[in-house]
Amino acid sequence: MRREVESLRKTATYLAQQQLLELRDMIDQVLEEKDEAIRDAEHAEKAKTIVAQRYVQEPMRCGKANCKCARGELHGPYWVLVKTFGDGRTKKQYVGKQLPAGARAGHVPIASKKTSRSARRSKPRAA
Ligand SMILES: [Zn+2]
Repeated sequence: MRREVESLRKTATYLAQQQLLELRDMIDQVLEEKDEAIRDAEHAEKAKTIVAQRYVQEPMRCGKANCKCARGELHGPYWVLVKTFGDGRTKKQYVGKQLPAGARAGHVPIASKKTSRSARRSKPRAA
């Protein structure tokens, strides 16, 4: 990489001032695009990372059109695992009448996640 930069620098000395100014604008734009790509990747990572989860009980509809639940008389309650993702979204996962063996109502600890994000940020804006 070092050598490419030296070579580009040498080429730059042959350019007119106006061309160099345009080049600087172009480099700024490329840097911005790369930053944006990093932000998008970070957001995507957040969106798929579970930051909290808990078991809750909820009354439910079975979906049958003629069922009593369609008229508001719901079934259950059934256990549901509510997962909260890093971007704030939640997703519910049906569990059933019984909690899984060993599970308790409320907060469920999350297995520790890798934190690969910090390393990327601290790198200089090369490449
Ligand atoms: Zn029903």
